[in-house]
Formats: sequence, structure tokens, C-alpha cells
Amino acid sequence: MLEPVADGVRVHVSEFCSSNAVVVDGRGGVLLIDAGILDEELACLARDLEDSGRTVAAGFSTHPHWDHLLWHARLGDVPRYGTAHAAELVRTRLSGPGWEARVASMIPAGIVHRVPMALLGDITALPGDGTRIPWNGTEVRVLEHRAHATGHAALLVADRGVLVAGDMLSDALVPMLDGMGADPIGDYLGALDLLEAVAGDVDVVIPGHGSVGGRGCAQKRIALDRAYVEALRDGREPDDPRIGASAVYDWVPDLHAGQVERLAQR
Ligand SMILES: [Zn+2]
Repeated sequence: MLEPVADGVRVHVSEFCSSNAVVVDGRGGVLLIDAGILDEELACLARDLEDSGRTVAAGFSTHPHWDHLLWHARLGDVPRYGTAHAAELVRTRLSGPGWEARVASMIPAGIVHRVPMALLGDITALPGDGTRIPWNGTEVRVLEHRAHATGHAALLVADRGVLVAGDMLSDALVPMLDGMGADPIGDYLGALDLLEAVAGDVDVVIPGHGSVGGRGCAQKRIALDRAYVEALRDGREPDDPRIGASAVYDWVPDLHAGQVERLAQR
């Protein structure tokens, strides 16, 4: 079911990890960001769009992780974009034999049979300088940064006051640092600064996983994420509700412990 979150912006929530697919109305069809996870959910989204007389004009993947790269034939054969870094990484990872098995090994066993792999990762690099989505609709700014993943981008739909944060600014998941960079802590703090620079214009923040936040929420989540990352940097245990007794997901404390261990080994 599509739920309105701002003027001309709707989300479709997956049962997998509260993943948010985002639909932005355009003049010649919608922009679909991080389309969804399960086959029946993607089909449901396609049906909801058809029922409301909408077609998909373009897609965007916020970053090159499997749960942000999925698609469904019923959504149409339209341009699907990512940042140039994301498109390059996906091309490398999904080339050669055996990529389906490699990707399948990253997907929880309980849902892997419900995840449609056929159109996974079929994204192309944004044209030009990569700072705008090329589509017939309101201006969507691409805020690329290296924090959670190579080629990760948040999208700012400025005239709707909407920030689509990708896997940043979640109320359920702590910052998940990209293990591939030379300075994951510095990269993450830099990305939070980048998002903070636009947060004053944001009325609605939509994380890749978790609940949609209202006015003031972007700043609060940036502060919480920064405190978490600074605690990691300083070797302190973060005081963070996402890994405490009220954690939304019981595996997030383990994820946190794993990050602490990996950082200690660097
Ligand atoms: Zn991710």
C-alpha cells in the first residue's frame, strides 16, 4: 500500500527490515527510489501505481547493496540510475559466472526465495555531473557521499522538503560503516556534515530502513548518528537506543559489536 508522506511523495514499506520504497510524482510518470524487496511487494507496488493511473518514468538506487537494487518487470523497462561509483561497483560485482549465488548468500535465508534476482542491479550512471536526476519532474538533487557504501547518495526533493536518506538517518539501525574505505569514521562524519547542510530545508526524512520522520527529525537523527560514530572513534560504548533494551531489531546490537571489532583490527 502506498502511503503519502509529503505532497506528491509516497512510500511503500517492505516487511523486510522496514525498507522504504519512495515514489515521487513527476509530469510524465513517477520516480521510483529503491523499489522494494520481495517479489509480491514489488508486484503490489506496480499494481498500486497502475490503479492510480501512474507509470514509472525512472528509477534510482541509493547505493549498490542488494536490497536497494531490485526491480520488477511490471514496473517497466525504464532508465534506472545510480551514482557513477555505484554503477561501476555493481558492474564489477555482477559480472562473471556465479554472481547470483554470491548475492543470494547475502540475503537472509528466510526470504531469499521471495527476492526477484532477474533485474537486480541493472542501473546506469547518472549523466553529466551526476548531481541531478534526469527526469520530467521536480528537481531532485543527488547528494553523493562515502559513508555507508561506495557510491551512496541521498536525494533531496527540495520543493517538497523531502530528504531520501538511503541507508543513513535510520531510527532503527545504527550507522553501518563502509568497510572498504581508508577512513570509514572520517567518511561517515563528513557525510553527516553534508546532510546537515541541507537539513534545515527538510520537513520529511525517509530512511532506507525504519520510520519516516517529520520536521526537525533530520537534525535529531544526524546528531544521534554523529554521537554513535564519535563514540566508535573514541573507543566508548555509545549510549544509543538502537542498540539498547528498546532496540527495534534484536540483531542490531550484534551488528554494532561486529563494527567495534572490525575497527579495532584496522
Ligand atoms: Zn545498505
